[in-house]
Amino acid sequence: MIAERPSVCPLDCPDTCSLTVTVEDDRVVKVRGSRANPLTAGVLCTKVQTLYPDFVHGPGRLTTPLRRVGLKGEGRFERITWEEALDLIHTRVTAAVAAHGPQTVLPLNYAGPHGMLAYASMDLRFFHRLGATLLDRKPLCGGIRTEAWTGTYGTVPGIRPEQAAHSKLIIVWGNNVTWSNLHFMPIVNQAKRSGAKIVVIDPKRIKISEQADLHIALRPGTDVVLAWAVAAELERRGALDHGFIERHVQGFDEFMARARHYPPAEAARICGVPESQIQTLAEWYATLTPAAISVGNGLERNQNGGSGIRAIFALPALAGRWGVPGAGCINGAGFAFPKTPQRLQRPDLVPPGTRTLNIVDVGGHLLDEALSPPITAVFIYNHNPVIVHPDQNRMKRGLAREDLFAVGIDVVMTDSLAYCDVVQHRDLPPAREALRLHRAALHGQRRRADGRGHGRHRRAAGRPQAEPHRDRSRPAHADPGRGGHPLQEHQARDALGQGRARLELSRAEVRRAAAGLPAVRGPLSPRPHHARLGQADHLDLRRAGGERCDAAPRDASGRRAGARPQERHDGARLERSG
Ligand code: SF4
Repeated sequence: MIAERPSVCPLDCPDTCSLTVTVEDDRVVKVRGSRANPLTAGVLCTKVQTLYPDFVHGPGRLTTPLRRVGLKGEGRFERITWEEALDLIHTRVTAAVAAHGPQTVLPLNYAGPHGMLAYASMDLRFFHRLGATLLDRKPLCGGIRTEAWTGTYGTVPGIRPEQAAHSKLIIVWGNNVTWSNLHFMPIVNQAKRSGAKIVVIDPKRIKISEQADLHIALRPGTDVVLAWAVAAELERRGALDHGFIERHVQGFDEFMARARHYPPAEAARICGVPESQIQTLAEWYATLTPAAISVGNGLERNQNGGSGIRAIFALPALAGRWGVPGAGCINGAGFAFPKTPQRLQRPDLVPPGTRTLNIVDVGGHLLDEALSPPITAVFIYNHNPVIVHPDQNRMKRGLAREDLFAVGIDVVMTDSLAYCDVVQHRDLPPAREALRLHRAALHGQRRRADGRGHGRHRRAAGRPQAEPHRDRSRPAHADPGRGGHPLQEHQARDALGQGRARLELSRAEVRRAAAGLPAVRGPLSPRPHHARLGQADHLDLRRAGGERCDAAPRDASGRRAGARPQERHDGARLERSG
């Protein structure tokens, strides 16, 4: 029997395509894009369209538990039953805990194919209850970007990508759009047809740079210097919005004190680009409004990456480029939806004094004979550390330790699972959570389409720009979206949609959801209506504690290479200032 089912791509990708999946006798036979999500509009990438049925049902799919029979890394296994697998894991992990205490166990997991249930939910509750070593996962990649965003604007969403169609200037900064963010490309083209200028900032001559009015091919790791230089040049040109800064920005003086060290000529030398390009970028950002900045995933993997992203995010706050459609930073929608991961993870179960290791340093920790207690049991899931971590050879040597008991859980055999003693297969993560969000959006659309929507839906349908929803249980003056705070007003309006799919969430709910996310601790967290800039040099999470980056890549790498393992253990915490 053949049936078509609605679904959503579960892969780790900003676009979250809506899908129509053809199923024949419980087997996926075809995947194509659906128009349920207006942003992805029936288009999806080739790999999911052509390879996903094979990923689900192909010969590589793990279907039974396995026990290693060859050398670690050799990839030779025999099939065993679930009972045998669970008994073996219970025996070995119990022995490890008896010998070294529960912190000898390390859950070595990351995001895998995203999804709230697949990514760090009840699994962490188990490890919290056990008292296993905690793992700081942020330094590996996307967490740095999140810190850069929340440290500047708090837990609010960025502007929707569709808004860039209104922009007169689009800055594509470290975003290989045609490969990694493909649904943004039609919006860029639409804006360009309407006369917008496109700037691409990327060390590589990526595809979209062919359409750019300006391509700045800076040296990797120097984005922070370029952003500082643009800020300094905006100030010299009198293009900073001091009224906006006065009302909505904290840490302006600190930020600019650092930025002024990098006038265009000096920045051009460090970034390896013509000074004229920096001048042009600053001139366009000063004069073309609205301007949108789209920062891709990738900068954070570089030296100074977090600092670079944060300095870029600061530019719209300095120039007052918020508050009209098409102005601001395009950022993920993660903060637009209610999430309460702590209810699943129960961090309150973690025994006091449990250590936290930096995920980037796990390879070194596995080989560190001085580490106490040693890591003697690891669970690898939603992760392929041999491929993903820096210093692959060190990770391989660490996982090859004969006294290390490793459990791997995945959909297919991976390079990392080849080092495991027991491999358990698992189902593909359901796309259910994302599907629910899509349906919520569609529900709002349908209500508008058939005229049954309540007030705010009708307003959204009839006007090019929707009015921000006000929480009517509160007086107007208590609702920042009703004037006086354009930064938050605009972002909240974006969060709830702008004349298109509108979620059934009140703004109050959005704020509650943000409060339930992992805390942005200490003085870094901005007040609700402020962008907090401060110095942009405190977000290289990969560095040892107490060190500062001065944005010179060679210096940073020297410090990194020189840091002894124990110092890096200590540096697992976030270093914050400003
Ligand atoms: S572009 Fe590809 S990977 Fe990204 S959400 Fe769409 S189908 Fe998934």
